[in-house]
Amino acid sequence: MSQISCIFCRIIHGQAPGEVIYQDEEITAFRDIHPQAPVHILIVPNRHIPAVAALHPDDASLIGRMILVARELAKREGIASTGYRLVINNGPQAGQSIDHLHLHLLGGRTMRWPPG
Ligand code: AMP
Repeated sequence: MSQISCIFCRIIHGQAPGEVIYQDEEITAFRDIHPQAPVHILIVPNRHIPAVAALHPDDASLIGRMILVARELAKREGIASTGYRLVINNGPQAGQSIDHLHLHLLGGRTMRWPPG
C-alpha cells in the first residue's frame, strides 16, 4: 500500500524524482537528497510503514533484508572495508523527518560518536 502524499512512496513508484540505485519486490534504495557523508543512501520498504514503532512481528524478515541490502550496497559503493554506519531515526526527538521507515547507510568519512 502506498500513500499519495508520501514523498518516499512517490519515489518508489517513479512518481517523484529520485536516484534509485536498488529495487526489488519489497525494498528500494536511493541516494539522500542532502547527503551527510560521501555515501548516503536510504533503504526503504516499498510498503508504506511510517516508522519502527509501526512494525509488526511479521516484518522481522523485511527489516533483516533491509540490513542485508545495506551491506550489499556498502560493498558496491566501496566502503565495506573502511566502515559505515546504519541509522534509523524513530520519532521527533530522534530527528525523524519523513514518516516512511528508512535505514540510512552512511560512509566514506570518519564518523564521530556519540551522534548529535
Ligand atoms: P530522517 O531525518 O531520519 O527522517 O531522514 C530523512 C532523510 O530523507 C533526510 O536525510 C533527508 O535529506 C532525506 N530526504 C528528504 N526528502 C528526500 C528526497 N526527496 N529524496 C531523497 N532524500 C530525501
